[in-house]
Amino acid sequence: MSRIALITGASRGIGRAIALRLAKDGFDIWANYASGKEAAEALCREVEALGRKATAVGFNVRDGKAVKAALDPLIEQHGVPHVVVCNAGITRDGLLAMMSDEDWQSVIDTNLGGFFHITKTVMREMLRKRAGRIIAISSLSGEAGNAGQVNYAASKAGLIGASKALAKEVAKRNITVNVVAPGFIETDMVKDLPKEELAKMVPLQRFGKPEEVAAAVSFLASDEAAYITGAVLSVNGGMYM
Ligand code: NAP
Repeated sequence: MSRIALITGASRGIGRAIALRLAKDGFDIWANYASGKEAAEALCREVEALGRKATAVGFNVRDGKAVKAALDPLIEQHGVPHVVVCNAGITRDGLLAMMSDEDWQSVIDTNLGGFFHITKTVMREMLRKRAGRIIAISSLSGEAGNAGQVNYAASKAGLIGASKALAKEVAKRNITVNVVAPGFIETDMVKDLPKEELAKMVPLQRFGKPEEVAAAVSFLASDEAAYITGAVLSVNGGMYM
């Protein structure tokens, strides 16, 4: 039976690139989306063209009950995914002094709460199977902080702490938990930023491509990465602020 990879936020951007890359690596794909049903279904057709199975799964990662309701029946029918990529994320940027409670809470609930709901839903079966790979998509903002992103940086730094703690909890059962921390990557998330100005701050002088993040995820998901856990792999063009 083929191994399955679940990717949250797979309808666009980095998640989409990760889904295609893991399909090329031989995984069947469960592609989560929130609002982009058609985009997720189009991605599934692309995965199928690569010869793998693909299922589009709609749920909001903020909503633990919805996550469980969507994933439990799939896990019961097909088994727990071998690879789980917690990629879904949002920004609600603004200076702290002006930040609304909603902008704080929605970012924490989506970016960090999503990790909690997803990993909790898959963990029992992963522990039973004594195998699995969890990969969280954090951010340079979570490693270094970024003005205007107190909410986002908190959620992304939280992902690093949560992943390191979970890595220690589940290592005895042969489950690894790692983090990929991208810098500026060309997706919808950064479409309103002044790209040319910001690219000058990056040692490699350009934004990264979603496929370059997907390559790091592919490595951490591979059998070659079996002895790596609790690690943070930065994919940021050398931009350590
Ligand atoms: P994006 O293009 O804005 O795509 C975001 C994806 O997340 C979409 O597929 C969206 O689904 C999904 N999503 C958002 N909220 C969700 C929710 N509540 N439940 C389920 N899915 C949800 O963003 P991206 O640039 O690809 O970012 C992907 C990840 O990389 C995020 O965690 C982001 O923080 C991180 N990251 C990005 C950059 C960058 O420069 N782009 C840098 C560092 C880290 P729908 O479209 O279906 O609603």
